[in-house]
Amino acid sequence: MSDDRAERIAEFIRPLRVKPGSEVRLDRDFDPRYRAGMQKQDGVELLRTGVTLLAEYQERLAAADSHGVVLCLQALDAGGKDGTIRHVMSGVNPQGVRVSSFKVPSAEELDHDYLWRYARRLPERGEIAIFNRSHYEEVLVVRVHPENLVRQKLPAEACGPEVWDQRYRQINEWERYLTDNGFKVVKIFLNLSKEEQRTRFLKRIDLPEKNWKFSAADVRERRRWDDYQVAFSEMLSATSTKWAPWYVVPADRKWFARICAASILAHTLIGIDPRYPDVGKEARKELLSARRDLEREAPEGAPADPYADGARKKRKKKRKKERERD
Ligand code: ATP
Ligand code: MG
Repeated sequence: MSDDRAERIAEFIRPLRVKPGSEVRLDRDFDPRYRAGMQKQDGVELLRTGVTLLAEYQERLAAADSHGVVLCLQALDAGGKDGTIRHVMSGVNPQGVRVSSFKVPSAEELDHDYLWRYARRLPERGEIAIFNRSHYEEVLVVRVHPENLVRQKLPAEACGPEVWDQRYRQINEWERYLTDNGFKVVKIFLNLSKEEQRTRFLKRIDLPEKNWKFSAADVRERRRWDDYQVAFSEMLSATSTKWAPWYVVPADRKWFARICAASILAHTLIGIDPRYPDVGKEARKELLSARRDLEREAPEGAPADPYADGARKKRKKKRKKERERD
């Protein structure tokens, strides 16, 4: 990766990052309609480039087998989590990605500490895990609807008024532990405006093929909009850390949100810089000896190494084209 390209990606996502230690107020600090002066047409090509880049890096991540990535996606209903996952991950090898969607916790999950179910879905080294909703629900929906906390059957000393500050600290420490052990935690909040949410809900009602996506519960949740904005703002202020910063992605334009998400993930992978493993001297000797054996098996009239032959021809053709261009 050229430093120039890496630097441009870093520059592009900088305004979206929540500075660790800063006090966020969503409505004041982040505009859901921001699009960095870009037009939708520019976006198509850029996303395609981003997706190709991600595919290359994911292959290297898997080959290096030393790091993993946890991508946490948070949003209010109709924020576009599903579409973002579908588009951003469209080029990657499905074997290297696992998506987990976190819903209302089951009885078994409620019988454990609150981070248990998220820990069970962490990636292996070489993998990217996508959390569609994440451990952050534990300081969002659980905070806005405290009856969820009651269901968690915590001992009295663990659910006092300081429970949210405690959780912020525990989450930060957990993410630090993961980061120190080679698992990068990437956190994206898709920031939707109230008006755009209204439009998307109406679209789900108006179009028969979207009806299945509509839920009356989503409209009930919308009534708590202001409470969620406060919960999100506090969460962003308390849990954007040097090792796992939050990115607030403007979500009113889906195409722009997807470019941002792809860029943030690409930036993380560039930072990890996974390398194909060097097999070492001994293994290389074995490779060469195996090649000699295979070459000897070439049938009458066939090239000894058809692959090398083809590659040589391709290089020659490329050189000729370059000469013609100059
Ligand atoms: P979709 O786009 O399909 O609607 P979704 O993520 O909204 O995706 P739903 O099945 O509609 O999925 O909703 C999951 C619900 O689970 C959300 O309302 C969310 O707030 C809730 N939830 C997630 N985690 C927790 C938790 N720890 N405690 C209580 N509720 C939770
Ligand atoms: Mg939903």
